[in-house]
Amino acid sequence: LKEALKLNSDEVKKLKEELTSKIKESNIGAYVEQLTNTDITDSNNGIPIAIKDNINVKNWEITCSSNILKGYNSPYNATVINKLEEAGLCAFGRTNMDEFAMGSSTESSCYGKTLNPIDNTKVPGGSSGGSAAAVAGGIAIAALGTDTGGSIRQPAAYCGVVGMKPTYGRVSRYGITAYSSSLDQCGPITQNVEDAAILYDIISGNDPMDSTSANVEYEAVAPKLDGDRKLTIAVIDSFVEEASSAIQEGYKKAIKAFEDAGHTIVHKNMLDTSKILSSYYIVATAEASANLSRFDGVRYGNRKGEGGLKDMYTQTKTQGFGEEVQKRIMLGSFVLSSGYYDAYYIKAQKVRHLIKDEYEAIFKDADLILSPVAPTTAPEFGSFKTSLEMYLSDIYTISVNLAGLPAISLPISKDETGMPVGLQLIGKAYDEQTVFDGALALE
Ligand code: GLN
Repeated sequence: LKEALKLNSDEVKKLKEELTSKIKESNIGAYVEQLTNTDITDSNNGIPIAIKDNINVKNWEITCSSNILKGYNSPYNATVINKLEEAGLCAFGRTNMDEFAMGSSTESSCYGKTLNPIDNTKVPGGSSGGSAAAVAGGIAIAALGTDTGGSIRQPAAYCGVVGMKPTYGRVSRYGITAYSSSLDQCGPITQNVEDAAILYDIISGNDPMDSTSANVEYEAVAPKLDGDRKLTIAVIDSFVEEASSAIQEGYKKAIKAFEDAGHTIVHKNMLDTSKILSSYYIVATAEASANLSRFDGVRYGNRKGEGGLKDMYTQTKTQGFGEEVQKRIMLGSFVLSSGYYDAYYIKAQKVRHLIKDEYEAIFKDADLILSPVAPTTAPEFGSFKTSLEMYLSDIYTISVNLAGLPAISLPISKDETGMPVGLQLIGKAYDEQTVFDGALALE
């Protein structure tokens, strides 16, 4: 990305032509509707950025990889797309995702699966699997994804690229289809840390169109990147015990790299991961059930049913939503229902506060926390036999969203089969600078 930003308009056009032919030849299914959307943007000369299928781009189809939205065209740009254009970049190509960003493998898309470019028998991760696979496969210079519970960081880790989730409120959610409004954030997926900082700077900042956008002063991080700062890094040993040996080795390697470079390591504890998992899947599904109620056949997309209003609601939702999405809407409606609200939803919110407090306590003595991104490297297709097995693979990423913190995932080493091992650095709220500086020290 850094190099592409130096190109003149003829060179950018050439770059787009090259990308277009590479995308056509590619067989990993990173993009949906392969080139229809890239053709639209031919008339402007921005640097091409691949865009996840839940971010509105004016006049492009947006489906969140769901049948329920097939045929729906965006009437407006998300704020992040306007920001790209103001900075001389442009949306170029729609990337595949888990339906409505619910998943960890990009297997639940209505377009079919995306393959991991490093080993096509493995999943690319999810839900931003198309964005990560496109960058890792050399068919995008950079991409935007969204992260509700790990959906930028985990696919980046599975594909061996860099993925960054900003502090909640840092990047406008205006024009990004909501999954869980109090957890969702948009962020960059790139080939290296510096590119991630550049793209993060471009999309960040307060937006009056998003009431949850943070009204805090924003200072660009890329011009001040400093990989030589001496930092205190917290490690949570009990966490790592639940990870595979390849991840544990990567973790040791990263600790040693930090120590060798003169950083300080401190050892800390955290709430056990099962409580984090329960809290996340209650909050996320509760909010999802409310957010997805708008897809009823009246206002958006693919209307079904001929037998009156109720039939239209039923048929549109039954035929339009896939299995995982239906499951989550039911789970979310259940935990919000009057008899169970206190027992589940309120309790989950309390646990969420505890998690936030625990992070705050750790950050009294540390600048960053080093953590795995997932318990294993990219698994094979079909490895998750049940939804619960898939949810369990999210244990390291979801608490970061519950606490609203920034984090970056970057490749550290490889397992015995050559698959990338990714780790994440978690930072204090609004301290993205330290997150990027720490990542540079590990790169
Ligand atoms: N895998 C998690 C879920 O399914 C996270 C998804 C995301 O971050 N969008 O909810």
